[in-house]
Amino acid sequence: MTAYLELNKTLSEEDSSIKDQVHRFAADIMRPAAAELDQLTPEEVIADGSPLWEVFRRYRELGYHLRGMPEEFGGIALSPLAGHFISEEMGWGAGDLAISMGAASMPYGFAARSGNPELVENFVRPFIEDTEGRFIGCWAITEPQHGSDVGFLGNGDEPGPGFDVFAEKQGDEWVIRGQKSSWVSNGTIATHAMVHMGVDRSKGMAGSAIAFVPLDLPGVTKGKPLDKLGQRALNQGEVFFDDVCIPSANILVVPQGYVMIMDFIIAGANAGMGATFTGLARAAFEEGLSYARERVQGGKAICEHQAVQLKLMDMFIKVEAARGLSRAALVYNTSTIPPAPEYSIASKVFCTQSAFEVASDALQLHGGYGLAKGMLIEKLFRDARAALIEDGTNDMLSLNGARRIIDRSS
Ligand SMILES: Cc1cc2nc3c(=O)[nH]c(=O)nc-3n(C[C@H](O)[C@H](O)[C@H](O)COP(=O)(O)OP(=O)(O)OC[C@H]3O[C@@H](n4cnc5c(N)ncnc54)[C@H](O)[C@@H]3O)c2cc1C
Repeated sequence: MTAYLELNKTLSEEDSSIKDQVHRFAADIMRPAAAELDQLTPEEVIADGSPLWEVFRRYRELGYHLRGMPEEFGGIALSPLAGHFISEEMGWGAGDLAISMGAASMPYGFAARSGNPELVENFVRPFIEDTEGRFIGCWAITEPQHGSDVGFLGNGDEPGPGFDVFAEKQGDEWVIRGQKSSWVSNGTIATHAMVHMGVDRSKGMAGSAIAFVPLDLPGVTKGKPLDKLGQRALNQGEVFFDDVCIPSANILVVPQGYVMIMDFIIAGANAGMGATFTGLARAAFEEGLSYARERVQGGKAICEHQAVQLKLMDMFIKVEAARGLSRAALVYNTSTIPPAPEYSIASKVFCTQSAFEVASDALQLHGGYGLAKGMLIEKLFRDARAALIEDGTNDMLSLNGARRIIDRSS
């Protein structure tokens, strides 16, 4: 299968070599591991000896966990475009593992940016030096009663009720109580969490803070790993907080900065999702094209039938449009302060929808074989379906984006 044509003719040598390196990692390590993990139970996925741990180990060995980490703490300086290559290629290899690896770095990146020396010494530096995957982060925002609600910050349409996970200041400590939902990525394997929590109920969601919480503290418990349709290699599960005490130094974002930081989070997370699922769309297109060239019906390869050609071209257009938009949004929003979250939202919504449509068309081109367990296209279709809900449903993100477009134009 030929690689796609790189349309950027001014690519630096460094970016080009990162692209090749991450593609090899995606093809040789991620894809085979994800195929195996897809067939396992959620408990088997995270058991000792599971292929998941080898992916973590190789990912850390290559240093990709340091992208986005400030250079003064040992982060690697990557061009924004190289950041897109890493996400797209990893999404091509396995969307579920790409999300798991990305979420695993989140709390440490925020802790590094907080500049707090205790967090840096105790958690950021050990994470940077961890080549085994012993330090695993998660982003705990969704709650059983607050899924789509978390995106509304009292900006007009909705007052936005506050988080059920609530923290009270007691002396020099904060005491956290409540539950995060079973959707927390890496939830049952994480060692540290970036926890969104209410601190001022009078302000609804806007009265929230974000804390760095080690998950071995007394009072933390976890649920069972979630069993789900797609992205099965991505561990997910509940995290419970029962009077968990953290020092004030672990507060990463105070309520006064919460709404502003949410813009950065929305811009960053959605840009990453757009790039990752561009990769999945490309993988699905390649599967469809390859099968259409091989499968003979009516005396010729099905790619020679015009109706199939129309479908292939439609899929190709979606993949290229997804790459163009997701590159532009990620490059802009990782190099501009303040970011423009509506562009990242547009990228997430368009790229995940395209990935789903391309995967569905590619599955259709496979005929009956497309439904068979063990066929890559069957897995890509299920993985793409999950992405329409992941990190905010596409409907809710679109409403959030619309609000921003209207406000920016006024
Ligand atoms: C693969 C995957 C990975 C995830 N990773 C994480 C993670 O790392 N951390 C984390 O905390 N969470 C994570 N999530 C959770 C995810 O962000 C939520 O599932 C998502 O925000 C939707 O919340 P919900 O499931 O509670 O649905 P609900 O909010 O209950 O929504 C149900 C339906 O109602 C619609 N709806 C709700 N409110 C409105 C409204 N006001 N107007 C119109 N329609 C509305 C929604 O669009 C949706 O179709 C993940 C989810 C998935 C699928």
